[in-house]
Amino acid sequence: MPARSGRGILERLKNGVVLGAEGYVFELERRGYIKAGPYVPEVVLDSPDALRELHREFLRAGAEVMVALTYYAHRGKLKDVGRENDLEAMNRQAVRLANEVAREGDALVAGDICNTWAYDPKDKESSSLVVRAMYEEQLSWAVEEGIDFVIAETNDYLGEALIALQVIKELGLPAMVTLASTRPHQTWDGYDFVDACKILSDQGADIVGLNCDRGPATMLPIIEQVRRRVSGYVATQPVPYKTESAMPTFESLKSTDGTNIFPIALEPFLCTRFEMADYARRAHALGVNYIGICCGGGPHYVRAMAEALGRTVPASRYSPAIELHPMIGAKVEEKEKEFLVDWKG
Ligand SMILES: [Zn+2]
Repeated sequence: MPARSGRGILERLKNGVVLGAEGYVFELERRGYIKAGPYVPEVVLDSPDALRELHREFLRAGAEVMVALTYYAHRGKLKDVGRENDLEAMNRQAVRLANEVAREGDALVAGDICNTWAYDPKDKESSSLVVRAMYEEQLSWAVEEGIDFVIAETNDYLGEALIALQVIKELGLPAMVTLASTRPHQTWDGYDFVDACKILSDQGADIVGLNCDRGPATMLPIIEQVRRRVSGYVATQPVPYKTESAMPTFESLKSTDGTNIFPIALEPFLCTRFEMADYARRAHALGVNYIGICCGGGPHYVRAMAEALGRTVPASRYSPAIELHPMIGAKVEEKEKEFLVDWKG
């Protein structure tokens, strides 16, 4: 395992908020390196420079964790796109790239496992074995390449999340386990989200919470309850979309004509960077320890979140200075003043 001199995730959390950043799959899909639909991170092997660059952009924006892009790089998903033979190479390369960029700054590297689509609560015994084998092979490669902790994310089922937790704990690594929240109150196996977080925490998960599906407006109210019930570290990684009580998840967002717009026509609902900065402040005030972002995330949001937490990050060098804008800034030249009426409406 490559030597790393910095502090681990638990020491960092003890000292304050850790800023995370995800949304790799959606962002690399927008950039033309991942196919929407299967969402398999083929970019890891096909265009490593593109992934390296996005890691670097998140690092410059203040992310303290480089999450290896092994989301959906499991046996089941690779089979779907006919690349099962690339399984080991894809997993190893993803962790290597995360390490490479993490060392350019002071970031940690997280291994990443996720919902497998193989878990079946009605056939718990045999499906659990399949899921466990998928996690074990992914994480054994990740450990060999060097990781600081593991994020098990987007868990629709508490049962599947508990398998992930067990595998991570057997490896002796800190575990961050976060649930998906597509249903109003419960996991797909019927546990209230708050209860499920409590169970994960009681079973030894170091960090618990929610990721994906919900924007800040509909995720934070649940997290507020999780914070009250759980004494350990809590994580939020919402999507940067304007979800609301009638449409609490980005999967349920609809355009004005009633059409579902998930997953590739979501832009009208994107939050602004100011709204994501506000989310970071509110999460901090609630006592959330790991503040991140999920699908739809991009470097400009992460920088705004970092700055909202009072940090100056490498990309802050180019943070907005609207006062220097020639038309809407502080000083408008005489010769342009007559056109201001069109700018200000
Ligand atoms: Zn997501």
